[in-house]
Amino acid sequence: MDFKLTDEQRLIRKAARDFATKELAPNAREWEETHTFSRAVFDKMGQLDFTGLYVPEEYGGTGVGRLTAALIFEELAKGCFATAVYMSVHNMVVSLIYQYGNEEQRERFVKPLAMGQKLGAYSLTEADAGSDAANLSCRAAKVDGGYLVNGTKLYVTSGGVADIYAVMVRTDESQKQKGISALALEKGTPGFSFGPFEAKMGLNATPCTELHFQDCFVPDTNLLGEEGKGFNMALGALNGGRIGIGACAVGLAQQAFDYALNYAQKRVQFGRPIISFQGLQFLVADLASEIEASRLMIYRAGSLMDLGEQCALEAAMGKRFATDMAMRVTTEAVQILGGYGYMKSYPVEMYMRFAKIAQIFEGTNQVQRIVIARELTKTKGGKRQDLY
Ligand SMILES: Cc1cc2nc3c(=O)[nH]c(=O)nc-3n(C[C@H](O)[C@H](O)[C@H](O)COP(=O)(O)OP(=O)(O)OC[C@H]3O[C@@H](n4cnc5c(N)ncnc54)[C@H](O)[C@@H]3O)c2cc1C
Repeated sequence: MDFKLTDEQRLIRKAARDFATKELAPNAREWEETHTFSRAVFDKMGQLDFTGLYVPEEYGGTGVGRLTAALIFEELAKGCFATAVYMSVHNMVVSLIYQYGNEEQRERFVKPLAMGQKLGAYSLTEADAGSDAANLSCRAAKVDGGYLVNGTKLYVTSGGVADIYAVMVRTDESQKQKGISALALEKGTPGFSFGPFEAKMGLNATPCTELHFQDCFVPDTNLLGEEGKGFNMALGALNGGRIGIGACAVGLAQQAFDYALNYAQKRVQFGRPIISFQGLQFLVADLASEIEASRLMIYRAGSLMDLGEQCALEAAMGKRFATDMAMRVTTEAVQILGGYGYMKSYPVEMYMRFAKIAQIFEGTNQVQRIVIARELTKTKGGKRQDLY
């Protein structure tokens, strides 16, 4: 991997950093407390070309790729983790529809999504289908000209505020994975409604809702790819999505770390700044190293994906490592601030609450370990593959 960023990547990162500093960071706490999702902020990110990062210009995107996207999400997460997360999900959805959609669907769905006119959401999870996502039961029965969808999807990031939903449904009861298909569903379709915004530990600036389908007619023209291929599409999308979530975790951890280090340099106990105690110096040295290690893992996974190489292993490793790291760094940031860290008048307790979700969604970190082990033990022609 070439560790030198291009001039273009530096410029894009600076644009994301400036935006996060000016528009996100000053508002993140208030949005979190008032459960406010700002559509105006999404519109601005569309103007900054952050909404179509994986699709080419002819479809309204910029096609800058995964590594550059990781730089953007990392910066956005420093300002507002919740915003960075839904942007990562949005871009994952745009990419999924672009990859599997036909020309008409690319015009109808991908263009407005990539141009930031519409917001995308991803819906795989159900009450009895979390880690075991292939167990989903939301039913799309074949009828003349389309499907009649019935069932409930759970925990959809940007649920209710998003315009276009990539929804995994069961089209064949006799199969498990192969009975799942992907539909693009538009908000406002008769029979498609939302549950209330979930009350969450954090990430409250991004709504999360159930999706309810009651005899919801979806035309054939909204089927993405082929029937029965939806599960593979959903998992493929998550590969890239994990790089995005890993990048968000790196940004969140960096923000928490910077705050705690700055505090430790100013806070005086026993007549000297607490950073002068070796106990804290060793801690911050370890935390900084772990953030950097995570960053490199995420950048490498992004680069591999940009090169069109297999990256399921690297994406799962990166997501697992970076999000566990973010949990540790944000928890230690609270510790470094002592009692002040526990108070809502300081931001680190919020960062700690944010970090927890990153270990859970887009595949829990136990599921990442399953993916990692599976990739490590894969064989080709009876032989284990040489990975390095
Ligand atoms: C805020 C939020 C936003 C979300 N956004 C979305 C979204 O936009 N779209 C979407 O589709 N979903 C979304 N989800 C759902 C999320 O992806 C799932 O919650 C997650 O995949 C875990 O599923 P579960 O909650 O059913 O947990 P379960 O699968 O019930 O797991 C419970 C525990 O058991 C462990 N476990 C399960 N199976 C195994 C195993 N085989 N080996 C070892 N451990 C195992 C898990 O790691 C976990 O610790 C969101 C969730 C939250 C909380």
